[in-house]
Amino acid sequence: MSRNIEELARDNVRALTPYQSARRLGGNGDVWLNANEFPLPVPFELSQQTLNRYPECQPKIVIERYAAYAGLQPEQVLVSRGADEGIELVMRAFCEPGKDAILFCPPTYGMYSVSAETIGIEYRTVPALENWQLNLPAIADRLDGVKVVYMCSPNNPTGNLINPDDIRALLEMTAGKALVVADEAYIEFCPQATLSGWLKAYPHLVILRTLSKAFALAGLRCGFTLANKPVIDLLMKVIAPYPLATPVADVAGQALSEQGIALMRQHVAELNASRAWLLEQLPQLSVVQQVFPSETNYILARFADSPAVFKSLWDQGIILRDQNKNPGLAGCLRISIGTREECERLIAALQALSVEKA
Ligand SMILES: *Cc1c(COP(=O)(O)O)cnc(C)c1O
Repeated sequence: MSRNIEELARDNVRALTPYQSARRLGGNGDVWLNANEFPLPVPFELSQQTLNRYPECQPKIVIERYAAYAGLQPEQVLVSRGADEGIELVMRAFCEPGKDAILFCPPTYGMYSVSAETIGIEYRTVPALENWQLNLPAIADRLDGVKVVYMCSPNNPTGNLINPDDIRALLEMTAGKALVVADEAYIEFCPQATLSGWLKAYPHLVILRTLSKAFALAGLRCGFTLANKPVIDLLMKVIAPYPLATPVADVAGQALSEQGIALMRQHVAELNASRAWLLEQLPQLSVVQQVFPSETNYILARFADSPAVFKSLWDQGIILRDQNKNPGLAGCLRISIGTREECERLIAALQALSVEKA
């Protein structure tokens, strides 16, 4: 029997809806506020001219510098092709396809389900409470067969931190049964909230980090997994032999130098100031119904007519991220904090729409 290419593919891949990244969604903007990127490029120069050689699997300088930055030992750090690869490595090392499950609490980051579907692992969802916090009793009820719980704090796209007491309760209820992966992609915007100091007490805690957001290096594709050595050793078994290209390790090492970290902190302070300004401006607009507090470089807001607002801004070259189809986020758009000038352009455009509606 002859089968066409589509029929030869795995069933779960045929059924898969790929991650709708901001880049895949396209658009013709000049104000890109849809991917939580840093708005301006940071300059780096390549210093390694040894592209004839394979790179180190875990480049020593990058690991040592990140460990020092995170206040951990080098053996507690794994570097990979973005935090997205870390999400998948944990599943591949700990979940048996067709048998084990992962669990997460929507609305949250979209890659947990996409990775699970790609690998063929069941994913279970326990919707967050109305205040976007964990529904602990419901999680406890659904833990059977779960090997990994993904929890994003501060959460994308809602912008809030998860209560530390609730995280502790989650870690207690999963001890000896499942890993808890804390996605800290935005932790540089609220560094006091990191769970890195908790690794000592919890062998089943895993933390994800990235250079894509506060470090302004989304195009570099470099992320980190922080955990105790037994977890890192297992992840090292399933990682690709050369996950990081030599130029990537080169630039990551520079970004994690003292000057690189100082520059990142300065950028964070600037973005936090612009976020405060936007949080003051947005509620004054009649098209805006609700603005959620944020600990990150983006703001979630609910609009009276979000499709119209989204389209009008899109046509003016201001590209936001539509969250309308995300559970619990009807009418919501997510706005990345751009340069001050971009924030001002956004507010001016929303003011014009508010006047039309008034
Ligand atoms: C952006 C983002 C990531 C992905 O980070 P990369 O290092 O670019 O792969 C992971 N988790 C969350 C919550 C994010 O927002």
